[in-house]
Amino acid sequence: MSISFREEIRNLKAYEPGKPIEDVKKEYGLQQVIKLASNENPLGCSPKVREAIVNAVNELGIYPDGNCTELKEALASIHQINVNEVLPSSGSDEMIDTIAKAYINKDDEIIMADITFPRYIQTTEMMGGTPVIVPLKEFTFDLDGILSKITDKTKIIWICNPNNPTGTMITEKEFVDFLDKIPSNVLVISDEAYREYVTRDDYPHNTVKLLKDYPNLLVMRTFSKAYGLAGIRVAYTIGHKDIIETINKVRGPFNVNTLAQVAAIKALEDKEFLEKSYNLNLEGKNYLYSEFDKLGFYYPPSETNHIFVNVGKNGQEVFIEMQKRGVIIRPMGGDFIRVSIGTMDENRLFIEKLKEVID
Ligand SMILES: *Cc1c(COP(=O)(O)O)cnc(C)c1O
Repeated sequence: MSISFREEIRNLKAYEPGKPIEDVKKEYGLQQVIKLASNENPLGCSPKVREAIVNAVNELGIYPDGNCTELKEALASIHQINVNEVLPSSGSDEMIDTIAKAYINKDDEIIMADITFPRYIQTTEMMGGTPVIVPLKEFTFDLDGILSKITDKTKIIWICNPNNPTGTMITEKEFVDFLDKIPSNVLVISDEAYREYVTRDDYPHNTVKLLKDYPNLLVMRTFSKAYGLAGIRVAYTIGHKDIIETINKVRGPFNVNTLAQVAAIKALEDKEFLEKSYNLNLEGKNYLYSEFDKLGFYYPPSETNHIFVNVGKNGQEVFIEMQKRGVIIRPMGGDFIRVSIGTMDENRLFIEKLKEVID
């Protein structure tokens, strides 16, 4: 093919999603397969959201509201901010991409952890920025390490709190002390995809209130995890109006579809569903902890809906063997795997098969 593409994308690889359940069933001739690999909500979404989506199907002949007016109003009211301080997106994935397009110049330095969410590095490379990788320390963000890497080329710092895949978190005090030391021309992005699952009080539960003191902070949240809407693609970002306006310039005109907007508005209203999801997750987490303890497996305590666990055997092998037995998890390098917390039945099945594989 003789059409040349941008040099920056030469070494990029397309995202490889986990294998769909149907493919695994066919490949191994299995009747039942469960997926505990993508941190989805095992309850799906709220029944009220489902109903709202069905009712909105009649509106699909016309374009979505490109401004997400109602959704922005709902979010502004909940967070006590103005509508020009929030921007919905087609998942956080899209927002990470849009922020990169708006802000990353060639050779800008973008600081992130290892291991963390892979989209940060991909979008950095895509724009010709330089990823500056700071390894986790005891499975948690090394904030001092990050501070020591700031230069006059630093543009963005990605903080995933709690972190995917390790499930660990930084406290409000650590975060505020950190923000105090960040130059005002550096964007700090707090990706809070799992915030609804956090059990600890010392987590920064309300980062939105920090915005008045730290206008270089962006807060990113999603409906894909605790709200159970991964398939519909909707998230939102809150920040200073000037930053929001800049990002708004490069987004697609109708980036959040009609069903996603309706679903998100309804999801925000159903607090009971969130509580149910939180409780189920906590029950599953405690069960998995106790089973891992019996097996002598190390795991950092998780504030999310997934556990990063050392199973004492190569993660890739365990992944393949588990798949043959109808359970999809994520290998994580070395002897670590990441397992999403499912329903109690799924969790028990996972443990049963894991014991077989480990033996
Ligand atoms: C799952 C996840 C997201 C969410 O992505 P969506 O595009 O909103 O589905 C964002 N950040 C992290 C760290 C995640 O794990």
